[in-house]
Amino acid sequence: MTRSFECPQCGNPRGMGDLCPQCGSDELPVALSDTLVLNLKFDSPSAEEALERLTVALRRASEVGIKAIILIHGYGASGEGGRIKWAVHNALENNYFADRVDEYHFGEQTAYGSEAYHALLRRRPSLKGYLKHFKEGNAGMTVLLLGSVSRIA
Ligand SMILES: [Zn+2]
Repeated sequence: MTRSFECPQCGNPRGMGDLCPQCGSDELPVALSDTLVLNLKFDSPSAEEALERLTVALRRASEVGIKAIILIHGYGASGEGGRIKWAVHNALENNYFADRVDEYHFGEQTAYGSEAYHALLRRRPSLKGYLKHFKEGNAGMTVLLLGSVSRIA
């Protein structure tokens, strides 16, 4: 899952950022999967920084053809993990990302085997492998389905 993208110039695995670290190409990377795992907790950013990263990632993800993002934001009653989760939930519920995000499913509402879980898999069968991590309704994750259809508040 760390090798989700390939450089069209040099063929090396790369991230979805603007430049290939191997050859410096600025061509759009080739997505090897339509699903991206995005760890918002990486580097312990503040909640604001995490939201900014998500904004940038969402724009880039739709450019390169990603259809679903497994968002890892952590959880907890206190601490940075809890704050990032709260900020992300709040932003989604207020349609802050509605121009990119067609549907969102919070981990705790999408427990393995639940009705919501099966509904999500019917919509995107390719998520099955990723959703194993939702075994106990993993409260530290959220699934975003990207689409061109805007949600209406
Ligand atoms: Zn390259």
